Amino acid sequence: MVHEVNCKGAGYEDCEFLIRSENVDELIRFVQQHSEQTHGQSVSDSDVRTVMQDA
Ligand SMILES: [Zn+2]
Repeated sequence: MVHEVNCKGAGYEDCEFLIRSENVDELIRFVQQHSEQTHGQSVSDSDVRTVMQDA
């Protein structure tokens, strides 16, 4: 199953970031990196899982 996280879905209306991966751990790492670098906000593992959708 492919999982997807997009910033719009997470409340960042003006951010086009979208990532899809079958590997949940990898996806979470990428989202955490993006969030810290782009939004200056660190998110937890469970924060990412909350906004993760099946693609
Ligand atoms: Zn973003």
